[in-house]
This record gives sequence, structure tokens and C-alpha cells, in this order.
Amino acid sequence: MPTSPTNKSPDLLTQLENVINLPSISSTNAAIDMSNKAVIDHLANEFESMGFDCELIPCEPPSSGKINLIATLGSGPGGLVLAGHTDTVPVDEHLWSVDPFHLTQRDGKLYGLGVTDMKGFFPIVMEAIKPLLEAEYKEPLIILATADEETSMQGARTIAELGRPRARSAIIGEPTGLKPVRTHKGIMMDSIRLLGKSGHSSDPSLGNNALDAMHAVIADLIQFRNEMKQRYQSALF
Ligand SMILES: [Zn+2]
Repeated sequence: MPTSPTNKSPDLLTQLENVINLPSISSTNAAIDMSNKAVIDHLANEFESMGFDCELIPCEPPSSGKINLIATLGSGPGGLVLAGHTDTVPVDEHLWSVDPFHLTQRDGKLYGLGVTDMKGFFPIVMEAIKPLLEAEYKEPLIILATADEETSMQGARTIAELGRPRARSAIIGEPTGLKPVRTHKGIMMDSIRLLGKSGHSSDPSLGNNALDAMHAVIADLIQFRNEMKQRYQSALF
């Protein structure tokens, strides 16, 4: 067990500043896409000093610099996972009235890129478990920090392929306006590409107009969407 880390560990605001201070932007635009390694290394250090066993799990290819962290306190089957992603969306600094990479307090609110969605979740976890670190754990407490949620979801994919971590339940710290949300719609993305064939303005029938064909595809998709809307309804959403 850790030796009373409670007294020497930094307070919540310091920990928030620490994670906001480490940019970890995910973008489909390779020019601004970043590694999340600095955040993962920081979290691994902090959780290790709280007595957790920390395991770094790189995404493929390792050169992408995208890494996941599984930090475990206690052992055995079952357990509770506290999960979150360590990347943020890109930022247009000109549209911000404060520095997005520093924590700013204003009118009783905290500003910074990722304070709410969702690097700030990890400092909150650290704060919440401070009084629990000396407890005897019947099942493990597991912190899962993933990469690339805002774009490729490569972090979650890597973890899912490994089938880890195994636990009885999980809490995901995404912002929900402090309302508990116990289900998720999920998401599926796909693309349709049509290749036309050029004809001649004197005789368009010599070619194949991709726009005409796509018009039919879109019409079918709209109909499909409406059917799905009718068939799947949940009062939870
Ligand atoms: Zn999020």
C-alpha cells in the first residue's frame, strides 16, 4: 500500500493546470495532429505515486505516438474502471479570450482546452480517491486513459482488441451536465464513392453522370434514416 500520499499530493486545481498545460490535440489533419504521450506519462507518474501499477499500451503504429494507460490499484476479478480520453479537439486560439493551454478561473468557472471534455476527469479522479487509497480493495480500481477519441478512436480500438481491462463496471467521465447517463447511441461511419464516366455535351448519354447517381443514393439514405428513426426509439434520449 502507498505511504500516505494524501498530504503531499497536489491539489485539484494544480492537477488540472498540469494536464491542460500538456497539449494533446487529435486531428485528421496530420499537420496539427499530436501525440498524447506527455499527458499519459504525467498521469502514469501521478497514479504510480498513489500506489497504482501502471501499464502503457501504445497504439499501432507506435510511431504515431498515441498511447493508452491502464493504472490498477488492488487485484482480483471484477473491479471498477474509471475511463476517459486524453486527447482534445483542435483549437483556434484567436477565438479564445484566455490561453487554452493554461487553467483560467473566471466568474467561478474554469477555462482551458479539455477541462470538461475531458482531461479534467483525471484530476477529479485523483481528488476523489485520495481518501480511499489506504482502503483494502476487494476488487481492483482501474483507471483507463485512452488516445485519439476525437478522431480515429485508435486508443479504444487497441484496448478493445486486447480485451482489456476486464472489470464488472465502468464509469466514463464524459461531460453530461452532471446527469448520470447509462447508455450510448453509438456511432457508425462509412462513405460512398461513385465514379462517373465522361461523355460529351452533344450527347450526355455517352457518359455516366456521378451526380445523378449520387442523387439517387442520397434519396435512399434519407429514406433509410427515416425508417431507422421509426424503428428505433428510446425515451432515454
Ligand atoms: Zn470527450
